[in-house]
Amino acid sequence: MIFNKQIAVIFLTIAVAASLTLAVFLYFYQPPRRLTVNFLDVGQGDGSFIQTPFGQNIIIDGGDGQKILPELGRVLPFYDRTIDLMILTHPHEDHIGGLVKILGRYRVQKILATGVVHNTPTYLAWLEAVKRKNIPLVIIDRRQEINLGPDLKMEILWPQASLLNQEIDNLNDSSIVLELIYQEQKFLFMGDAENVLTPGLSQGERRLSEADVLKVAHHGSDDATSEEFLQIVKPKTAVISVGKDNAFGHPSLRAIKRLEKLGAKIYRTDNNGWVKIISDGANLSIETAK
Ligand SMILES: [Zn+2]
Repeated sequence: MIFNKQIAVIFLTIAVAASLTLAVFLYFYQPPRRLTVNFLDVGQGDGSFIQTPFGQNIIIDGGDGQKILPELGRVLPFYDRTIDLMILTHPHEDHIGGLVKILGRYRVQKILATGVVHNTPTYLAWLEAVKRKNIPLVIIDRRQEINLGPDLKMEILWPQASLLNQEIDNLNDSSIVLELIYQEQKFLFMGDAENVLTPGLSQGERRLSEADVLKVAHHGSDDATSEEFLQIVKPKTAVISVGKDNAFGHPSLRAIKRLEKLGAKIYRTDNNGWVKIISDGANLSIETAK
C-alpha cells in the first residue's frame, strides 16, 4: 500500500510539473510572424491578397469579378469578413470587377486609389458603392510610406502627383505601383504600368530598387518589364497574373525570355493556379495550386 502511495505521489508531482511547464510555455510563446502574399487565380486579370503578420487583410485589385469571391473564401476563414485596406491600381475591368464584388460581401475599412476618370459601368458602380458605404477613400497624390507594423511597410512609388478627375490616355500608366517591405524582403507590385514609367520610377528619393518578388507588370505583356527595368529590380521570383488562352496574347514570350535571362523563377497563374508566397522576413516559401 505504501509503495502504491509513493508511486501516486510521484505521478501527481510529474503531472503538476508538466502542466506548469506547458502553462508557462503557452504564456510566453509567440507564433512566428509571417507575411503571406496570395496571387489569386482570377483568370485574365490581377488580384493579390496580403495577410500581414499583424492580422491585416489587404487586397490589391480583384480580377474581373468572376472568380474573386471563391478565391478569397479559400484563403480567409468564413467568419473573417473584414478587409482592412483595398487598393485599386487602375480602373480597368480586369482589376476592378472583383473589387465591386468584395464591397458587396466584406467590410472594407479604407481604400487607396488614384481617382482617374473612367466611365465604365463597373467603375461607376464601384465609386457609388464606396460612397454609399462611406468608406474612407485616399487619393494617392505623392510618393508615400504606409506603416503597417514593426518592420512592415508599404511604399507607394506611383503616381507621384494627384491624378484625381484627370482623363488619362493610357490608364495602364496611371497604375498605383507599390512595394511591400517586410524586414529584409521586398515585394514589388507593378499593376499594369508599362515601360514608359521606368525613368520616372527610377528617380527621386523613393525610387525603384531591387526586389525579391515581382508581380510582373501588365500580365507579362511586351510593353512592360524591359531590360532596363529588370536591371534595376533584379527579381529572384516573378509572378505573372494571367488567364489561360487570353485574347491579348499575354504573357509575351519576349518578356518571359527577359525574366529567364535574369535567372528569375517564374510563376504564372494560368499554369500554376494560385501562387502563395510566405515570408518570415528573411526567407520565402512558395506554394502553388498546381
Ligand atoms: Zn490588366
